[in-house]
Amino acid sequence: MDTNLAGATLRIDLAALAANWRTLAGEATPAEAAGVVKADAYGLGAAQVAPALWRAGCRHFFVAHLSEALSLTGTLPPSASLYVLNGLMPGAEAACAEAGVIPVLNSLDQLDRWAAAARLAGRPLPALLQLDTGMSRLGLPTEEVEALIADPARLDGIDLRFIMSHLACADTPSHPANLAQREVFSRLSKAFPGAGLSLDNSAGTLTGYASHFNLVRPGIALYGGAARSDEPALRPVVSLETRIVQLRRVLAGTGVGYGLTFTAERETTLATLPVGYADGWPRHLSNCGSVYIGGARAPIAGRVSMDSMTVDVTDIPAHHLYPGAPVELIGPNQTIDAIAADAGTISYEILTQLSSRYDRVYLPFDETTSTEEIS
Ligand SMILES: *Cc1c(COP(=O)(O)O)cnc(C)c1O
Repeated sequence: MDTNLAGATLRIDLAALAANWRTLAGEATPAEAAGVVKADAYGLGAAQVAPALWRAGCRHFFVAHLSEALSLTGTLPPSASLYVLNGLMPGAEAACAEAGVIPVLNSLDQLDRWAAAARLAGRPLPALLQLDTGMSRLGLPTEEVEALIADPARLDGIDLRFIMSHLACADTPSHPANLAQREVFSRLSKAFPGAGLSLDNSAGTLTGYASHFNLVRPGIALYGGAARSDEPALRPVVSLETRIVQLRRVLAGTGVGYGLTFTAERETTLATLPVGYADGWPRHLSNCGSVYIGGARAPIAGRVSMDSMTVDVTDIPAHHLYPGAPVELIGPNQTIDAIAADAGTISYEILTQLSSRYDRVYLPFDETTSTEEIS
């Protein structure tokens, strides 16, 4: 690995990812655990993440768009189930059916078009059916569920694998919406007795409900983000390391960066780092975020630029400070959740913004630790 060429090195620990999947699968038992690999596996690279999850034992994979599913079909064995959360766009029916991708049907319109595609194909087509149990985002609203129950022939030709819904407040386990949505889901899904049931995301999986139904859909917890506001994350999966480009000593009263929004209050040592908002390092960290050098905190001084930022290293021992010296952006001292808190966002956004400019290194998942064979 050569950090001289890129601004920073992003390490993605596939063994930690696999361990997190197994932890979640254990929590879900006897329900099965899927892997949510939408948005290029939350920015970490679905082409590497999905096969590692398969080796860990995962057989169900959720993406957001049909295009994401199509780019994974060659990466996973044919027996993997690939589901498209955003459902079935008009005109996408044939491509979805031909690729063996399973849409999440989110409306009666999508359901009717999928049933028509099944008649055209002359064979049943698999699908998930999403019910809106209170989030008002995707899924059949209650009146559409009732219309479907009154006219079940609309499901002819559709091989209904799972009924699913999504929790709006799972990261806050005490929120009353959680139990309310579970109740609505249990009641409405009784009308579809042949299908499995799927409700919980990461946070729901890590909350000790009596039942996780038949399939859980964790995303963020796989990737080392804290799923619940009151619980630490599972194992960290990413680390990000950059190096010092340049050091300078400035006098008290010197301004730093665009807009000169930082003024040195004392004689100050500044280090310039080759990472900026074009790398997905949030501009909201200007004058409030940190990096770690030799395990000690160095605050960001001034605005984060497109390709660089400046940190105050006055209090860092001098032997850690030289051109090329390593700097921790994400690692043991600074989690993705800590960065998200400083930037006023969530770890999901920190991960999905990680730039393709970084040098990416995948730490392999040692298959000898796997209990499942690759088939
Ligand atoms: C993104 C998503 C998930 C995964 O959520 P996490 O909070 O990352 O675990 C599960 N289900 C649906 C419908 C989603 O959109």
